[in-house]
Amino acid sequence: MGFGQREKSGEQWQRACHECDLLLEDGLAPPGQKLVCPRCDAILHRNPRRSLHYTAALSLTGLVLFVPAASLPLLSFSIFAFGAENTLFNGVQTLFSEGYYWMSTLVLFCSVVAPLGKFILLCFVCWGCTWALLDRPVAAAVRWYHHLKEWGMLDVYMLGILVALVKMSDLGKMEMGAGLYCFAAMMVVANLTTLSFDPESVWARMAARRRRAEAVA
Ligand SMILES: [Zn+2]
Repeated sequence: MGFGQREKSGEQWQRACHECDLLLEDGLAPPGQKLVCPRCDAILHRNPRRSLHYTAALSLTGLVLFVPAASLPLLSFSIFAFGAENTLFNGVQTLFSEGYYWMSTLVLFCSVVAPLGKFILLCFVCWGCTWALLDRPVAAAVRWYHHLKEWGMLDVYMLGILVALVKMSDLGKMEMGAGLYCFAAMMVVANLTTLSFDPESVWARMAARRRRAEAVA
């Protein structure tokens, strides 16, 4: 959703630059190019080619990767005779059972609910924007995606794991589990999904569908 943007009749969109407030008559970049403010050089819109196709493929990949990332061990460590394997969920469970209720809720939200929600919402948006009946739910899903986007902190969680790996490697034997590789891949896919998703192609697709429907009627 571009700031200060509105749709006019036909395919014309106006846009106000978010840096200098210059009003531009044509607010959308041509496919594969970016729109730059002629006054302050701020990038106003990127229009990657086939944005929705890439977003759909990447969010499905993210959903598939989520299953092993959440269920397989991320780290396993052994100190003397004591050994344990840690998954995404039992880390949250341990925090909860130790009485860190807010912390466990926050970790669960930032490392599980938000990334998973993002992938599900984007899959729904990419599929749903071709159906007239789903216009309102798709618009709501895009808004929810913008709220959730800030909360998906897989990279922070990954950094925490790496710090633990380095710090605790002196105390005993630490090994990276298969889940960690899937988690790292999911983190990369989540960032690529954020980069590839262009909400304006959703609005443009909806507008084009409406125009076609009006032309037929
Ligand atoms: Zn500007």
